[in-house]
Amino acid sequence: SSTAGPQPIRRLQQSVINRIAAGEIIHRPSSALKEILENSLDAGATSIRITIKDGGMKLLQIQDNGCGIRKADLPILAERFTTSKISAFQDLEKLTTYGFRGEALASISYVSNLTVTTKTKADACAWKASYVDGAMIVKDGSAAEPKACAGNDGTIITVENLFYNTPARLSALRGSSEEYSRILDVVTKYAIHNPQISFSCKKSGSAAPDLTTPSESSVRNTIRHTYGQTIAKDLIHTEIKPLTVDEEEVMDVDEDDVTKWSAEAYFTNPNYQAKKTVFLLFINHRLVESSRMKKALESIYVGILPKGSSPFVYLSLEINPRLVDVNVHPTKREVHFLDEENITQRISDVIHDVLVGQNQSKTFENKG
Ligand code: ADP
Ligand code: MG
Repeated sequence: SSTAGPQPIRRLQQSVINRIAAGEIIHRPSSALKEILENSLDAGATSIRITIKDGGMKLLQIQDNGCGIRKADLPILAERFTTSKISAFQDLEKLTTYGFRGEALASISYVSNLTVTTKTKADACAWKASYVDGAMIVKDGSAAEPKACAGNDGTIITVENLFYNTPARLSALRGSSEEYSRILDVVTKYAIHNPQISFSCKKSGSAAPDLTTPSESSVRNTIRHTYGQTIAKDLIHTEIKPLTVDEEEVMDVDEDDVTKWSAEAYFTNPNYQAKKTVFLLFINHRLVESSRMKKALESIYVGILPKGSSPFVYLSLEINPRLVDVNVHPTKREVHFLDEENITQRISDVIHDVLVGQNQSKTFENKG
């Protein structure tokens, strides 16, 4: 009570700190999956196979054919702040990987049973190790060291019993079919953004995957594979650049020029009319959310689509990395960046003009 005066300040136990930190990064099965997926992409994988049991709560397994992990690195793999991706703070300014904090695998190990099987090209066999609370653990009574096993080049991450030790988090989750559809949503979006990579996602025990994409495909083809032909056949593709200077000037503009950006958009023409907007936004290859940008895009279609109808828009925006602070919390998906308003306006204008042009050519077609 208030009359009791201040309570003593105590240091939290490391295990408590770690579990709290993990909860901030790993909200639900789909957020664990997103981290693991990004690691596979960072590892240069061209094939990513996902198997899910019970909405990811029982099992999340991701197999990639990326570079693998060196056996010597396995003991510290799941410690907090261990990473192969940056070594100095300045590296953040020219970040080309998704990861950099070395927190994902650590976090996952605090709230699940994590097993990693991995093989580099140089290794003669694969190595397998299990982790709990950031540390490699002893299994079947043997010493805590990786075990040799058979395996392909690449890495298999197995996450079992997610949130077994955080019952409140577990009970906050939706049913397994809802969690599974969130997983499929994340995989679908990354598949579209990475059409050169083959993805598959299936429920454990079921023969047919719920999602497969071919490798070395195109964005349009991958959209056809995932969202279906109805969207794919009504897609318009446009590249958008700032409304500035001529090409020559753009060429010798210096690296730090904040006005330099480019966008690629795939958006449906007026023939496509959905009940809800589907909006995929990648900024510098990260899947993010921007409700402001979504609103701006929806408003372009007002007057173009009948009332109550919505479009599909996939937008990939590349801006100067200095304009977005990547060193925000990984789960902060709603992004803001410098010059957001101008860039959004320019993108909206171009898409609007293309759509209006489409409308006209459609009228001509009808006349002719
Ligand atoms: P971060 O991605 O921020 O570095 P993570 O905890 O996600 O941190 O991963 C730690 C390290 O483990 C990575 O830096 C990388 O070296 C290695 N790693 C994780 N997953 C894979 C994978 N699928 N293939 C190769 N290396 C991986
Ligand atoms: Mg990572």
